Amino acid sequence: MGAPMNDSIRWPLVENHIRKSSESNTFGRVRKHADGSPKPHQGWDFYAALGTNCYAIGAGKVVYSHYHGDFGLLVVTSFKFRHQELFAVYAHLKQVFVELNQAVEMGTPIGETGNSGNAANLTGDELHLHFEVRNVPMPGLGLAGRISPFHVYGICPLHQTISCPVQPSLIALPLVEAGAH
Ligand SMILES: [Zn+2]
Repeated sequence: MGAPMNDSIRWPLVENHIRKSSESNTFGRVRKHADGSPKPHQGWDFYAALGTNCYAIGAGKVVYSHYHGDFGLLVVTSFKFRHQELFAVYAHLKQVFVELNQAVEMGTPIGETGNSGNAANLTGDELHLHFEVRNVPMPGLGLAGRISPFHVYGICPLHQTISCPVQPSLIALPLVEAGAH
């Protein structure tokens, strides 16, 4: 027997690959401060050229859609996984296609990836979607309130690309563009 439809999830992009195939762009205490002490990274960075569409990973609703500090233009959507409500986080976006409290289905276009927030100086193969899975919608800094996306996907596309096509009939229109806040 398959999983119930409302527990289905997909990947946030059509082509999903950890940027630069670098462990430091995965989840956890994978980065270092200048003094060499471990520094947390709260999610996965997927390589994404500017303006790449990203999609709701599961059915739920939009619980945040606005600018938020270093995250830049940020969308947070709820979804169900193993009977638990979790939250998918899309950061550094260029523009957003959804508004607060809007219901989304798996595959609903969320927005276009960008370099807003603290990603503003990134170019070329540094460009990415910062993606998190949270168990509270808007926690503070550090790893609190986050869980590894590995918990949901069971695989990390560190050295391979995972393709996840979308229905071409889904049409997206921008509601908020970076720079317009
Ligand atoms: Zn990141």
